[in-house]
Amino acid sequence: MSTPLVLVTNDDGVFAPGLAALALALAPLGDVYVVAPDREQSTVGHALTLHRPLRVDRVGERRFSVNGTPSDCVNLGILGLLPAEPRLVVSGINHGSNLGDDVTYSGTVSAAMEGTLLGVPSIAVSLAAPEQSFEEAARIAQIVAMRTLVEGLPSKTLLNVNVPGGRPKGIRFTRLGHRVYKEKVVEEKDPRGKTYYWIGAGPPLWDNREATDIIAVQDGYASVTPLHLDLTHYDALQRLGQWEASLNAQLRPRRQR
Ligand code: MN
Repeated sequence: MSTPLVLVTNDDGVFAPGLAALALALAPLGDVYVVAPDREQSTVGHALTLHRPLRVDRVGERRFSVNGTPSDCVNLGILGLLPAEPRLVVSGINHGSNLGDDVTYSGTVSAAMEGTLLGVPSIAVSLAAPEQSFEEAARIAQIVAMRTLVEGLPSKTLLNVNVPGGRPKGIRFTRLGHRVYKEKVVEEKDPRGKTYYWIGAGPPLWDNREATDIIAVQDGYASVTPLHLDLTHYDALQRLGQWEASLNAQLRPRRQR
């Protein structure tokens, strides 16, 4: 079989050290192409740029900088810039964790979602202690990526990997934890006396139930959480589907007699 193409992106920008560490770690697995935002795009979520042109700069061999979001980069990579379809998309290594409910805001995880939606097995990798070396996280990304290349992933499923600081005690497969929303919005006055607001100011609080990604990383393990992109809640569809008849009945009485 020919050498697999691997598309690498991130949300911290094309010159972020975490991206360089990831590209280096994946080089033995195939031909690595980097397509990444030209500046930091953390917490942009799954945004796509549809209302202005995207520009691509070649910043090195198989390295491209894009004035867009992580999801733009994955689109451009898979649908245009790469010479063939990649066998794998890996996003990261993010400078900071992407745990629990925070995955919905994450540009790093959204890039892996985009790869998954385009039919390519995808992995997001984040380092919880970004002031530390990316070496251990890169090693974990490498072995998870290698296994994914060999086995593939279930349909519509991506892997969200979070690595603690220091030397991980091992790898745990986990479910997503949940944020506890306690903090209030901060309301202050600016120097001109105008009110401003600041959201997400305090440290996040998490539920402390077992088997979550948050607990694994707190305990010093790397967490691997499979995420599924069919967001349909099938139990709820079954139960709330019973609303259908009565909602339709409410639609009807307008008829003239
Ligand atoms: Mn980031």
